[in-house]
Amino acid sequence: TYTLGPKIENWNQERKAWLDSNPEFPSYVNGKPRILLVTGSPPKPCDNPIGDHYLLKGIKNKIDYCRLHGIEIVYNLAHLDKELAGYWAKLPLLRRLMLSHPEVEWIWWMDSDALFTDMVFEIPVSKYDNYNLVVHGYPDLMFEQKSWIALNTGSFLFRNCQWSLDLLDAWAPMGPKGPVREEAGRVLTAYLKGRPAFEADDQSALIYLLLSQKDQWMDKVFLENSYYLHGYWAGLVDRYEEMIEKYHPGLGDERWPFVTHFVGCKPCGSYGDYPVEKCLSSMERAFNFADNQVLQLYGFRHRGLLSPKIKRVRNETVTPLEYVDKFDIRRHPVQEI
Ligand code: UDP
Ligand code: MN
Repeated sequence: TYTLGPKIENWNQERKAWLDSNPEFPSYVNGKPRILLVTGSPPKPCDNPIGDHYLLKGIKNKIDYCRLHGIEIVYNLAHLDKELAGYWAKLPLLRRLMLSHPEVEWIWWMDSDALFTDMVFEIPVSKYDNYNLVVHGYPDLMFEQKSWIALNTGSFLFRNCQWSLDLLDAWAPMGPKGPVREEAGRVLTAYLKGRPAFEADDQSALIYLLLSQKDQWMDKVFLENSYYLHGYWAGLVDRYEEMIEKYHPGLGDERWPFVTHFVGCKPCGSYGDYPVEKCLSSMERAFNFADNQVLQLYGFRHRGLLSPKIKRVRNETVTPLEYVDKFDIRRHPVQEI
């Protein structure tokens, strides 16, 4: 069967030895684990050119979040392994980045169509000290219903360790494009509740793996649902005004979602499950909702959630530092906007 590369057996020891001999690249900085956010998009231009504009907005949004929170970022446009093209491309990429960046403690995959919508919220990373995979999901949907949406692979974190390499190895065999992926798709559709008939996708394959080998993996998997590590856009984008009225950034849950993910939209492809116009206007709203939280420091905001135009919200002053103290969200984690 297919493999991601030569089997690595002793990554924990090798990585530890590397960290010990490279103290200038520590895996923890100021007590916090080093996090690398990874995202990407297909190597070629979008079928629909407006899709490229939303990819740009998607990466701008992630750069802003990562800059504010001291997270490094990688944008990938390549297919490292041509057998694992499309949504499977993240697997060889995650493996490659783990092995090439031993200093990184957590690798965080985020889809191009997922936007940060809470620029203040931070992952409660110490909660995951005893875990190696953190993914948004629901245990009941998973173990009672075997639902194909029990978890979402649009945003998840892997610890850089042997366990994660092993999990990637166990996850990958359903991925190779062609008959293997087609046949695996039939197995997944038969096994998982609610899954339409189509080729194997990475999300269904992960659910299948965790269900069928529960004892082997689940004790290191954290199914997170106390905040939106992934938040399904359809229930969120129409409520942003209400959230602004009632709440403030920093909550990360349904009151102010950490991530809004445009599942089923495919703005870069030629077809999706929702009307293109609905998707694009919703993405625009999510982007501007987030961008307002960034622009606040500079004294501006968007004229409306659908407007790329901005307006000034404070006058220029001869004492600019008072606004730095007041509005810099790095220091005021729950500032009202
Ligand atoms: N992706 C990629 N290269 C590709 C195809 C997809 O990097 O050739 C990434 C991209 O970030 C995308 C994610 O994989 O958001 C999931 O792929 P999918 O086809 O499910 O797209 P989505 O439904 O997220 O638009
Ligand atoms: Mn997606």
